[in-house]
Amino acid sequence: MIDPDWSPREILAATVALSHLRFYQQHYTVVAFHGLGGGKRITLGKKPFKCRFCDKESPAVSFKKRAHAVSELLGNKIMTSLYECDSCNGRFQAFEDDLAKMTLAARSMSGVRGKKGSPTLVGTGRGPVRMKAECDGLHLSHDAGAPGFIEDPINKTLALTYDIQPHRPLGAYKALCKSAFTLLPDDEVTHFRELKSWLLQSDLTTCQVYSSGSHFCYSTVLPTFKPFKQPIVCLLKRKRQIDAPYMLFFIATGNFTYQISLPCPEMDDHLRGKAITVLPYPHYYQLQPWLVPKPIVERLLELSSAERTKQKTDTITWTFGSKVQVL
Ligand SMILES: [Zn+2]
Repeated sequence: MIDPDWSPREILAATVALSHLRFYQQHYTVVAFHGLGGGKRITLGKKPFKCRFCDKESPAVSFKKRAHAVSELLGNKIMTSLYECDSCNGRFQAFEDDLAKMTLAARSMSGVRGKKGSPTLVGTGRGPVRMKAECDGLHLSHDAGAPGFIEDPINKTLALTYDIQPHRPLGAYKALCKSAFTLLPDDEVTHFRELKSWLLQSDLTTCQVYSSGSHFCYSTVLPTFKPFKQPIVCLLKRKRQIDAPYMLFFIATGNFTYQISLPCPEMDDHLRGKAITVLPYPHYYQLQPWLVPKPIVERLLELSSAERTKQKTDTITWTFGSKVQVL
């Protein structure tokens, strides 16, 4: 039933999201789905130790480090795997660093807690301004006397300009692939030999599976504080051969989501040379857009570049209710 308070835009957005959900129900099956915010630990794999990436076993390689199945910086505190050796874990750090830098503003804005808590975003150009998410909401501050935020008192908005930390987009993509590869059921790993070979390389271009221009990441940003109370990860597998990728990885955390398809030449050979559109796997708020105060921002990121991004700035704008002077 349609609620009279829903706007035409919201009804249209929900209708589109519902059609996408029906597509995925018809053509895909969920092979992994986890909420990562609970207190109960999840451990993937079993002893004896054998690394899923390099196939080496203990004691040829060590397994002393706590290997997070999904990047800790994206808020995963509870899911680890027993099948990632310390050597592979060390190699992945460089890609995690790229992902951390690419997502810094989003994680800061939505209070996603990594190894050192939620990151602080420091503004640039107008004196020292800071943004940090706490349990009770987003804290924005600047030093007395500094210009701080750009304020529009009439529309009650604050804007913060910040530097996007230089990072390698393909490194961030590789970090997402590593999390997805870790979540694969054992009987699926065999289909991803090329991806496994790429993950074994410490650089980005050796054994790269697909050529430049093929590393898309669909992302949504929700204009509200931490709508996803816990990180959610999902792997979707194609049921039968259609013109769509074999395996999709989806993660929602804080107030943003990412969706990528896993490089899989073995199962996606029929897609070679075809231009296909990958539909967004709709999340809770796309299906019910009236639950967030403003339109959900959708972006299609192309993460093929192995070069570090140049110095760039971006601006975040908030609407505020009231201001309180802190002495
Ligand atoms: Zn290994």
